[in-house]
Amino acid sequence: MAVVADPYTEKSDEQKAITEMVHQFADEQILPNAEHYDHEDVFPEPIVEQMKELGLFGVTIPEEYGGMGLDLTTYAMIVEELSRGWISISGIVNTHFIGSYLLMQFGSEEQRQKYLPDMAAGKIRAAFSLSEPELGSDVQAIKTSGVKREDGSWEINGQKMWVTNGLLSSLVFVLVKTDPTADPRHRGFTCFIAEKEPGAAENTGPYKGLNVPPKIKKLGYKGVESTELVFDGYHCPAENILGGEEAGLNRGFAQMMDALEVGRVNVAARGVGIAQRALELALRYSQERKTFGRPIAEHQAIQFKLADMATQVDAARLLTLRAARMKDAGERSDLEAGMAKLFASEAGRFCVEECFRIHGGYGYSKEYEIERLYRDAPLLLIGEGTSEIQRMVIGRKLLARHKI
Ligand SMILES: Cc1cc2nc3c(=O)[nH]c(=O)nc-3n(C[C@H](O)[C@H](O)[C@H](O)COP(=O)(O)OP(=O)(O)OC[C@H]3O[C@@H](n4cnc5c(N)ncnc54)[C@H](O)[C@@H]3O)c2cc1C
Repeated sequence: MAVVADPYTEKSDEQKAITEMVHQFADEQILPNAEHYDHEDVFPEPIVEQMKELGLFGVTIPEEYGGMGLDLTTYAMIVEELSRGWISISGIVNTHFIGSYLLMQFGSEEQRQKYLPDMAAGKIRAAFSLSEPELGSDVQAIKTSGVKREDGSWEINGQKMWVTNGLLSSLVFVLVKTDPTADPRHRGFTCFIAEKEPGAAENTGPYKGLNVPPKIKKLGYKGVESTELVFDGYHCPAENILGGEEAGLNRGFAQMMDALEVGRVNVAARGVGIAQRALELALRYSQERKTFGRPIAEHQAIQFKLADMATQVDAARLLTLRAARMKDAGERSDLEAGMAKLFASEAGRFCVEECFRIHGGYGYSKEYEIERLYRDAPLLLIGEGTSEIQRMVIGRKLLARHKI
């Protein structure tokens, strides 16, 4: 297939084909069923099974490990389409994507061969875990500890918080403090690949000591579970240190920060997807609903809302694709990924609120899709760094790049 980009959509033929396929999947399988899974807060198993068949768990995993071997830009386009359907669906893929990125970037060949083929097929899914009950933004305050035992394995103790896919995942890429005396602190953290039994609240056998309390009840982002993880004397073999003990011990912080950069492009794409859906709903409703004898879309105040929404959607998409393309080209894109995440997640919230206002009283009813979007959108302001943290990142990087 040609890799020439269309001048208007800037998508190659391959990107067009795959995004059209995912768009159709969202229209036919996600959107008609999201309301049910959201209201019941149950895991959308049949949708996930179809995603496995479509290969969506292995989009960026190289072909030699059974994936599609596509770049971050194409992945971002796919995430936009999934999120347009329902952000919980993209959430099931997103932590898995971060896990596979960590393996591709920092894993040993042995670890890649062990996990990537099953991950590409969606047979096993991955979670990633930094946050704890007392910290989210301040990652270096992590308390969960890893101590080396006499038999060479590592004992992990501590509590993790807000782990997306925490129950149903088979692997958790977990950041743990392994050198409490490290100065600076960030040199004292290690990323372990913690294996677990998917679906087990209490792990047994080799995974004993890793327990998953009942899922956290949330405002939105239903269907996909967010859980705590309690490590209580959990033993992790040294070969499950990301990259192996020699290469990976006390390197976890830098590894996770690298992964968060692509994670930011990922959340930005989710912001574009939810904003795009809000725009579609607003365009439709505003032409159907009449007040004062004409469709509300003919009132200038409503047209201005639509104009602002469409402008935000396009700007968010362009920023997101720029950050992804720079990363794919091997250029430094930390600043651009931060900008994309900040702008697109705020655009998501803005467009959803404008769409909600356009729906008047019906926006407050569970009968209308916008009600779900209104509960889902705020998550994107928080995950992978809040808007305040993004501004800190952008500000610091900006000054570093323009030092006088
Ligand atoms: C549904 C959901 C799913 C999640 N999934 C995951 C996951 O899979 N894995 C994972 O590790 N984490 C996950 N998280 C956690 C998420 O990353 C954190 O919630 C986020 O990083 C914010 O941390 P916090 O909640 O501890 O807020 P805090 O860090 O306590 O921040 C509270 C407020 O203070 C502001 N603030 C903090 N520091 C500063 C500062 N220096 N200057 C200015 N303002 C500041 C913040 O912006 C925020 O407004 C998830 C969270 C949610 C809600």
